[in-house]
Amino acid sequence: MINIAIDGPSGAGKSTISKLLAAKLGISYIDTGAMYRALALFALDCGVSPCNAQDVIAILDKAHITFNYNSTGMSIFLNGKDVSIDIRRHEVSKAASDISKIPAVRDRLVALQRESASNSHCVLDGRDIGSNVLPHAKYKFYLTASAEERARRRYEELKIKGEHVDYNQVLKDIIDRDKNDMERAYAPLVKTDDAVLIDSTSLTIEQTVDEIVRYIDKDGFADGR
Ligand code: C5P
Repeated sequence: MINIAIDGPSGAGKSTISKLLAAKLGISYIDTGAMYRALALFALDCGVSPCNAQDVIAILDKAHITFNYNSTGMSIFLNGKDVSIDIRRHEVSKAASDISKIPAVRDRLVALQRESASNSHCVLDGRDIGSNVLPHAKYKFYLTASAEERARRRYEELKIKGEHVDYNQVLKDIIDRDKNDMERAYAPLVKTDDAVLIDSTSLTIEQTVDEIVRYIDKDGFADGR
């Protein structure tokens, strides 16, 4: 199967771009961040701190995460319930970043990601896809943008959803999450040498997708997903 890895920091537009790219190529899309978010939501719902590895490990077996791909993207289910909207809450973002530092959590989700990637041509977005989940992925991209631009986009997104947040707080959260993701000991966010760097700071969504598509041999996906 042909896999396209899209890694990069929070708010770089990975999920929007990956979804559009997958639709354009007629292949599946797997949002790996959604899996960390679903586990983080589960921990919060259980009253467990996502920073406490021991407590998180104790509840891991009770969280059954599944997902499906459809024309509008990926829906994610936690113990059978669709949590695709709940996992986007602001407090879940920080919790996901914290829970993703726990090696047992990563091992569990990476296994799920590898298995899913082996079943269909797909675009996977995350932090460690090219470096750890699928080091042999045919295509690897590192999508980034300045912290200020990423905060601006996230701020606008949250405002549209009716969440009242302060821009400076969103910027601080983005910078903290970058630090968390880049400095963690296990599978940190890193640009591998074989990944193509795409800086979307001054690109529109369409321009970013077009830039990525330039590197991809579209005929390779002729048999669809
Ligand atoms: O991409 P998204 O912001 O939804 O991811 C939420 C959090 O999950 C990230 O901040 C990151 O800490 C973690 N994550 C990860 N590895 C991935 C995808 C997400 O550590 N492959």
